[in-house]
Amino acid sequence: MCLDDFGLTTRSGPVFWLTGLSGAGKSTLAYRTSRQLAEQGFHTIVLDGDVLRGGLNSDLNFSADGRAESVRRAAEVAALCAKASIVVFVSLVSPFEAGRARARQIIGPTFHEIYVEADYPTCNARDVKGFYKLAEAGQIQNFTGLTSPYEIPRTPELVVNTMTSDVLECVGKLTDYALTHSGAK
Ligand code: ADP
Repeated sequence: MCLDDFGLTTRSGPVFWLTGLSGAGKSTLAYRTSRQLAEQGFHTIVLDGDVLRGGLNSDLNFSADGRAESVRRAAEVAALCAKASIVVFVSLVSPFEAGRARARQIIGPTFHEIYVEADYPTCNARDVKGFYKLAEAGQIQNFTGLTSPYEIPRTPELVVNTMTSDVLECVGKLTDYALTHSGAK
């Protein structure tokens, strides 16, 4: 619960923070699950790392500092949306434990870390955006999983494995979890 600008008590929305390698399935699951909740009457938003990079974070690079700042900004925006009782899905590689811990600190108890699990060979084989090919050709610096580390979440609230379950199963699992933590309408 929090007080809005008029001193009224409101319920903060949850923030489902999807982390994982590029191509793991974060955006696919965030958008599809968001739609499931919207169809049930929830106000939802997806903060997609690729979209943020085109606007809010367009001044940042992929260095450790740039990534930390992009995570911080996403967390601040997520916190504002959550305060307005919006159900927030963040789809961001967010490779470092420290960055995710900071996001948790900014957002508070409504933060849920969701590890979208798919290993490097799987994501490389999918290569939805062509990044892996470019990275392996040396044309992308600091590429997570190749030339920059990905720190696997140690105690995420939920793991969705996109190697062993198909899209529908993963959306079902995340939707169940999200509904449980979004409160009854
Ligand atoms: P990310 O946002 O993590 O970079 P995307 O969602 O953009 O990843 O891409 C993931 C790709 O993997 C999509 O083409 C999607 O169809 C595919 N995919 C295969 N299996 C799954 C699954 N179980 N869950 C989500 N995506 C999957």
